[in-house]
Amino acid sequence: MTSTQTTTPGTGTVPASHWLDGKPYAGGSTRTGEVYNPATGEVTSLVAFASEEDVAAAVASATAAFPAWRDTSLARRTQVLFAFRELLNARKNELAEIITAEHGKVLSDALGEIARGLEVVEVACGIAHLLKGEMTENASTGVDVYSIRQPLGPVAIISPFNFPAMVPMWFFPIAIAAGNTVVLKPSEKDPSASLWLAELWAEAGLPAGVFNVVQGDKVAVDALLTHPDIKAVSFVGSTPIAKYVYETATAHGKRVQALGGAKNHMVVLPDADLDLAADSAVNAGFGSAGERCMAISALVAVGPVADDLVAKIAERAQGIKTGDGRRSCDMGPLVTRPHRDKVAGYIDAGEAAGATVVVDGRTVEPDGAAGGFWLGPTLLDHVTPEMSVYTDEIFGPVLSVVRVETYDEALALINANPYGNGTAIFTNDGGAARKFQNEVEVGMVGINVPIPVPVGYYSFGGWKNSLFGDTHAYGADGVRFFTRTKAVTERWLDPSHGGINLGFPQNH
Ligand code: NAD
Repeated sequence: MTSTQTTTPGTGTVPASHWLDGKPYAGGSTRTGEVYNPATGEVTSLVAFASEEDVAAAVASATAAFPAWRDTSLARRTQVLFAFRELLNARKNELAEIITAEHGKVLSDALGEIARGLEVVEVACGIAHLLKGEMTENASTGVDVYSIRQPLGPVAIISPFNFPAMVPMWFFPIAIAAGNTVVLKPSEKDPSASLWLAELWAEAGLPAGVFNVVQGDKVAVDALLTHPDIKAVSFVGSTPIAKYVYETATAHGKRVQALGGAKNHMVVLPDADLDLAADSAVNAGFGSAGERCMAISALVAVGPVADDLVAKIAERAQGIKTGDGRRSCDMGPLVTRPHRDKVAGYIDAGEAAGATVVVDGRTVEPDGAAGGFWLGPTLLDHVTPEMSVYTDEIFGPVLSVVRVETYDEALALINANPYGNGTAIFTNDGGAARKFQNEVEVGMVGINVPIPVPVGYYSFGGWKNSLFGDTHAYGADGVRFFTRTKAVTERWLDPSHGGINLGFPQNH
């Protein structure tokens, strides 16, 4: 697939920033942002930031496309979904390279995120089953009642930098399959995956205007949150912005699901398999350089396991190869220089507050260019709950070990945390695991599984400050979110039922 290049009068040649009405759209705004290759530190392109007018044009495209798409048969809509699925599967390596070039994650991890997005596309291929309503014959004599699910209209998806393909795919396959039209506002840090996906939709036969992309920052987001024609907003990002998006868009009458940040704990009980626990902590702590909302950031070692566990994790962490995601490395750079420095600052603060730096990522020697945004895996021991490295979402390759004496202390720690996205317990005691899944106040729980992202036919979502709204992403909740039900009461008149009666309808 060729990259979309267009010429904006007065600004020279820049990557096509937006996509609407089935083609690239340069937009009228002159504001731009820099896009980096995090493995080299170089600016690789500029992304235009949409103005309010650009957003209005995208919403107009989605609004114009809605009536015909809503009335397109399920058979035809499903054919487009299957075509998109086949194209994406065949060309996923191209998309993985785009993700790695702008996000920095290693290619195998980029392919992993595409695979998890594909799962939702596959669920959406079965939309005909998911949209079925209910039917009751003879609810009253000669009266039938049934419910139908209808699409909402143009919907907005606003996504974060850390999964430029998967997070949009948590939402748009089901939204589109259900008959809605979409305006996607991806992260300005890695904008290109969205345009590649837009081209793929066009190739799959999706009518122009059903899937649109506007690039940009707060200006674009605010324009979507307040636009009268946008009926629903699916947001994923940090907690303060998620809360803002939820409050602003609901105040403008929209249906909203806003997924926020996280601080995920992994509890290791004394009877756990420590090699499995150490492998899992390393994979979940340092995969994607810790830039996952389901990353394990706090490891809660219960009772006597801590010394052995820390030694096993340290050994594994020291073997991780940090470097350019296009080479055969385990872990890539962080997304930007300021973010890398912020994460390193948390390590400094943890050390100053008395944590033991067991493995120090600040001194990493990467397999990559000197200018890359490098920080190696870092293991901190003896972290206590008042340290900033524990209280804050770090979003980097920093694993903090908190030592507690009992299961109850571990549980209390998790339940006191303002976030409730994911958690995991490692144990060989089924009773303890069952008690944990019952008592823990977190939306997604892993039992001997470190990153419990539900499969596509369940739904993804946290509790507390990790999600604002009533529905989770994809699965059955996704179908609920992107449709509204209508109940129809129907009677085919028989002359014996005529006559005037102003009383409230009763069933006979
Ligand atoms: P972010 O909140 O900075 O940005 C998310 C989106 O909001 C982007 O599209 C961005 O352009 C926009 N945005 C940023 N500031 C804004 C503002 N002031 N007003 C309006 N819009 C604004 O998040 P990020 O740094 O891109 O992503 C990392 C965060 O996302 C982490 O906190 C992570 O936990 C979270 N996340 C959560 C989940 C989840 O499922 N709960 C999944 C992935 C990422």
